[in-house]
Amino acid sequence: MVTLCNDPNCNLLANHKGNHQFVYKKAWETSFNADDINKIQKAGYCTPRGGAKGGYQNHVNRNSKVIIPYEKLAEVNLDNYKDGYVIRLFPTQYFVSKHVVNEIFQNDTSVIIGKNAFVLYRTYEDFENFPPLPCWQLRSIFKYNKETGKYDIPSNDRRGDIIDCGHYLLRISNSGTNKKQNKFEGPAQGIFAPEYADANTNFLCQAVLAWLIIKTADSPYDESDYEHLQAILDKHNLLDSPHYENNYIIHNGKTTCPLCQKIILHSELNEMISFDDEEGLENSTDQVGSTRSTKVNLFHMVPLCYSSLENIPTQVAWGHATCNTRLGQRRCYSFNDLQSTEIEIEITQRQEKRVLGYTNIAQNFIRSQNGDVWIRIAKGGE
Ligand SMILES: [Zn+2]
Ligand SMILES: [Zn+2]
Repeated sequence: MVTLCNDPNCNLLANHKGNHQFVYKKAWETSFNADDINKIQKAGYCTPRGGAKGGYQNHVNRNSKVIIPYEKLAEVNLDNYKDGYVIRLFPTQYFVSKHVVNEIFQNDTSVIIGKNAFVLYRTYEDFENFPPLPCWQLRSIFKYNKETGKYDIPSNDRRGDIIDCGHYLLRISNSGTNKKQNKFEGPAQGIFAPEYADANTNFLCQAVLAWLIIKTADSPYDESDYEHLQAILDKHNLLDSPHYENNYIIHNGKTTCPLCQKIILHSELNEMISFDDEEGLENSTDQVGSTRSTKVNLFHMVPLCYSSLENIPTQVAWGHATCNTRLGQRRCYSFNDLQSTEIEIEITQRQEKRVLGYTNIAQNFIRSQNGDVWIRIAKGGE
């Protein structure tokens, strides 16, 4: 294996020239095909969720400024977001009546509109009942100007050295009965916070996903051609980590879908499927506006949430789009996870008892030894 630089935050080869560097995508990009490079690139992006209407950015890297909904503020650890955050409030949260601010904000230095927070208007009704304060301005972005040494170049995009100004954002849709126009004013404010990962974590997730592409069945790539990638993974304890086989991210050395445990074919990574054909997936909220997907997608072992960062290298895999949808916002338990609970599910057939499988503490996820899985999708009545 090749030898890497001694610096713990550098993934370049030993005796490299120039600065230390953590992110080194050439470890796979120099010889991957364009579709696979693109697939990994996308896995490092935030995917649309509520998208533009919530003032969110789409298709930008996970290491970006995040939007924290005010109602989630108590749940999050703000220190997690190394690329910054902004708090979103609805007018009904900030005001009690026209131009009267809810008193809980009057002495609260943790939420200051125009500093670390903004108000999002989504309906004409809210805009009329709780209009912006007279001194408020629409949100805007300014880029750093080397000549003046100030942030004084107006901009529409968030790239580079920028600052946010202003107090409110308009994402008002024309709601059925009134004939007013849609009002979309002010730039996108950030990404969906549960999808956040800092740049180094995002890179390591992508390195794992590249490795898992190399290990798909029918892969056009040869492991021995990726010594630098292997060395990077090894440096971060991600090459021979037991979690791959324990969680069926890899099984017997081949990339597998952690939910159904079937081997992933390389051709499935970029093969398009239509969700129209899939029984029972019409209601999938993730698929609104798009009924087509690649057959295999980024798969998270633990659902993304506000309270912790879960887009981490030991929890990413490739899984079937249909399995992803079936799993929904649930954790994917492996057989090993469930067996360790020692909660057995028994069935009785012809007076003979046998163990069907094991379940988790919440008893909503069952697996049998042969990989069959049952997930509770609905809660029964009281
Ligand atoms: Zn170095
Ligand atoms: Zn699957």
